[in-house]
Formats: sequence, structure tokens, C-alpha cells
Amino acid sequence: MIHLNGEFMPIEQAKISVLDRGFIFGDGVYEVIPVYSRRPFRLEEHLARLQASLDAIRLANPNPLAKWTELVEKIISGNPWEDQTVYLQVTRGAAKRDHAFPKGLKPTVFLMASELVTPSADLVENGARAIVLPDFRWLRCDIKSTSLLGNCMLRTLAADQGCVEAILVRDGELTEASASNVFIVKNGTVLAPPKSQLILPGITYDVVLEILHANALPHEVRPVAESELRSADEIWVTSSSREVLAITTLDGKPVGTGKDAGKPGPVCKRVHALYQQYKAKVMGKTQAGFAQAVIEVVKRHAPDFDPATLGMRPSREGKYLSLTCNVRAVSREQLDELYRELCDHPMVTMVL
Ligand code: PLP
Repeated sequence: MIHLNGEFMPIEQAKISVLDRGFIFGDGVYEVIPVYSRRPFRLEEHLARLQASLDAIRLANPNPLAKWTELVEKIISGNPWEDQTVYLQVTRGAAKRDHAFPKGLKPTVFLMASELVTPSADLVENGARAIVLPDFRWLRCDIKSTSLLGNCMLRTLAADQGCVEAILVRDGELTEASASNVFIVKNGTVLAPPKSQLILPGITYDVVLEILHANALPHEVRPVAESELRSADEIWVTSSSREVLAITTLDGKPVGTGKDAGKPGPVCKRVHALYQQYKAKVMGKTQAGFAQAVIEVVKRHAPDFDPATLGMRPSREGKYLSLTCNVRAVSREQLDELYRELCDHPMVTMVL
């Protein structure tokens, strides 16, 4: 089931005008939101980025936040998968073909979902191949625009060589990849290029930086030279669907040196594991008894859960507490029941 301009329908029935500026000019913006166990991940942040993209192309947001949340929730419940990606797109609407933005058009709003496919166990274990290419895209890569021809060309050049990604450099510096952000590790320090108009401000990029900070892993956000990329000990790409994926072969050569050369490095493995834990989170208002109440529910469904391993992190203003539970489950049903009971608990605000 998809959503188009206020209506829900099967995708085969969805129709738009051939004069839609999204079709004619790529005059639109989009978001891709990962959904775990039917919960959108970092929805607020995705909708804030949507607003930034809309502002950058002078397109009024057709929906308030609450309406977007409702639409996303309806799409999630109208589709069969537990883990999904929700794709949403706003274009300027239909008008006589003319480059300058016309005023007063009715924007076209489209949402669809597909099954969330994260990297296979083999890719996580062995990493992926990438090539380095010159970043020949435009200078506003911070806008999540539907005009993705440059990214599509670069990704195709990578695919031609059996690679999953094209890692891009502009003026001797790393920018990002054709559909992901890039981190490298050099001498134990994680390096990430700063946000600018030359890269998309990835939501996963932010999550990874938060994880690095929260776990006191050495990291620097600063320009990364092409030579540093090429001599990196580790390279990873991050995105909502790829999560944290090691690049182990760059331009046909193994990444790194020594015994880990050509394999996912130790920092990547750690961050990948922390990212997976981060998704298994229970959040609630900071109040007496919250952690204990969660421990009791978890123990009911996973008796060997050790409360000493419970991770706790207060939100920035201290109003919310997020708990991370590592649970060994023997069946999907066991996890589903635990998830349901946590969702129904009056002290729990959100379960991921
Ligand atoms: N950079 C580009 C060019 C992308 O297309 C994407 C995602 O599709 C990203 C970075 C990663 O963004 P996010 O982590 O929000 O998925």
C-alpha cells in the first residue's frame, strides 16, 4: 500500500501528471526512514532533514510534523514487513514546463514502503568492495534531492567493477559515497569529514558519532585528505539501510595492513555491534523504578538476562533514560512477546 496526495492505494493504481516537476526536472526532495519492528528510527531527525531540504529549494512543507508522523505510521501498518524502509517524496507539483519555480502549485506527496534489507551476514563478516571516483556532482549535496543522476552514474561505475560503492573525492578531499557517508580509521582514531554543502548530513552519520562519543572512542570530525583515505587502516560506509558496513577492498587493493588487511577492522566491528545494540533500546521518562520495571519485564521473557549488563544513557536534558538490553532469545516469538510487553508498559515511551 502506498500514499499519494491524501489517498492510500495499491502502487499499481498510483498516477501522477507527466507535467509534474518531479518528473520533468527532478524538482523534489525525499527521505528514506528505516523502521525496526514497525517503529520508525529517528523519525524526528528525518523530518527535520526533510524540512531543511524543502527550505533549500523554497518549497513549503505540505504537512505539519504530526501529519507526517500519522502518514508514516499508516504506511508502516499498511505493509506486511516488521522491518521496513519508508520512502517519502515531495515534488513541486504539475505546471507548464518552465525552469524558474512557479508559485502556488499543489505539491505531490508520495510515500511507499519496502522491506528493510540490511547487509547480509557474509557482507558484515567480510566487508565490501569500493572504488574511488572524482565527485562530479553539484555543489548542494546537502539537499536530499530526487535529482540523483550524478549519484546513479557513480554507483553504476562502481557496480561495473563489482563494487558496492563509489567513494568520492573532490579537490583532494574525501566527501562521501554515492549513497552513504564515509568514515576512516587511522592509527586508532576515527576520522569523518565535517558536514558541509558537499555531503548529505546522514542520520546514521550522526548516530555513529554519538556512539563514538558515548563510548569514548577517539574520533575527529575534520577534512580527510584523499591520501589518508587511500592509506586508511579501516574504511566504513554508513547509511540507513547499510547501517555500518566495512569497505575491505579499495580500488582492488586490501584496506589496512597486517593481520586485519582486507578484513573488517576492530573499530568497525565494535561500532557495528554498538549500532546493533543501539537499535535494541527501551526509552522512558527518567523516574524512580523505570530501570527496575524494565529489568523485570525482560527477565520474565529472557530468564538468563543479567541486569548488570543493562546499558543506561540519559537524554541530553536528562528528562529521558534510554536502556540497552542484550537479550539471548531462542525464537522470534520470544522476542516479539518481550517487545509487546515492553510497548504496553505504562512507564515505557518507546521500544526499538
Ligand atoms: N550520502 C548520500 C549521498 C546518501 O544517499 C545517503 C543515504 O541514502 C547517505 C549519505 C546516508 O544518509 P542516512 O544515514 O540518513 O541514510
